[in-house]
Amino acid sequence: MEHLYHPATHAIHGGNQDDSTGAVISPINLSTTFQRANDGTFLEGRDIYTRASNPNRRQVETKLAHLEKGKDAIAFASGQAATFSIFHSLGQGKHILIPNDIYYNTRLLLTEVYAHWNVRFSVCDMTDIEEVEAAIQPDTALIWIETPSNPQLKVTDIQAITSLVQGTNILVACDNTWATPYCINPFDLGAHLVMHSTTKFLGGHSDILGGVVITSEKTPENIASKIRQFQIIGGGVPSPFDCWLLNRSLSTFYARMPIHCGNALRLAHFFEQHPNVEKVNYPGLPSHESFRISQRQMQDKFGGMLSILVKGDAETALAVASHLHIVKHATSLGGVESLIEHRQSVEGIHSVSPPNLLRISVGIENCDDLIHDFEQSFDTVYQKNT
Ligand SMILES: *Cc1c(COP(=O)(O)O)cnc(C)c1O
Repeated sequence: MEHLYHPATHAIHGGNQDDSTGAVISPINLSTTFQRANDGTFLEGRDIYTRASNPNRRQVETKLAHLEKGKDAIAFASGQAATFSIFHSLGQGKHILIPNDIYYNTRLLLTEVYAHWNVRFSVCDMTDIEEVEAAIQPDTALIWIETPSNPQLKVTDIQAITSLVQGTNILVACDNTWATPYCINPFDLGAHLVMHSTTKFLGGHSDILGGVVITSEKTPENIASKIRQFQIIGGGVPSPFDCWLLNRSLSTFYARMPIHCGNALRLAHFFEQHPNVEKVNYPGLPSHESFRISQRQMQDKFGGMLSILVKGDAETALAVASHLHIVKHATSLGGVESLIEHRQSVEGIHSVSPPNLLRISVGIENCDDLIHDFEQSFDTVYQKNT
């Protein structure tokens, strides 16, 4: 019955019930434990202990599953914990394929944490389907997709990858943090698992850390149950307050996203014409190498993230970032406020990001003000240099 509603309706109504009081907005259940019946058993539908389950967590998980048109959602204390649970569910001796442009800490998980765990990985250009096919090994268990990618906005054709692994045991997981379910529903394209850092667009206000793994009918049962085990027994769970805040944030998700996307598209066109910008990475620009795939895959909603290569070196890029007044020079993304970051200096010596690259998380401010902010920063920085 519930499945008949649009995800935008679920985003508002999908998890606010409090049948015991009739409250329209559910209270925050801080209790870590819940009363048993006289015979020591639990009443039907009651929680036992908050690590295992909690009303606020169940509510937000229900909503998140709806937004991705999934079967179940398993919430974690961070996006990294969610990614960790997927990698860990594969078991030892497996091989994972990751894209060459990827959220830096996902790669660190494989290079640092899994270095001594007999889990191997290789890196390939996922915009090139033949390269992906060639990189598959006999023990490949997972292809990890991140599209558009961080920070170069490379686009992977999800359907092409899921078709490639059809009839094999290889799972396809999408880190859908950047695209969000507003732009892409990976399950419609054949993916087996969806992961989000809910810290970003889903949380939307830069005030909660969280992650989630969403499963579907196509997720193997043993994988789904292991991920749930890692949550409950592993214990990397979000607090009831964070779940409540995320639930509240999701109510406005479908109202925020069109503004993020609209502002990002306008800014991308502005940067493309600007003499101080060498290159703009945004999948909604016809000049993007994968524009056609993006049009189909993102249904003309290209997201709120972009990156630019400014003319000059790392120092010039850092100067542009620090002369902005509205756009804050800070890590992270997906909040209502615009943020800018110089990825190379954040990622450190092993960074593969170009030195003149600035990543921009476009907020929902008035777009004329954002454009004006960049104009004045470019004017200040480039006048000084000439
Ligand atoms: C932020 C981010 C993560 C990690 O999420 P945390 O909540 O910071 O742990 C993973 N993938 C992408 C694409 C991200 O932007």
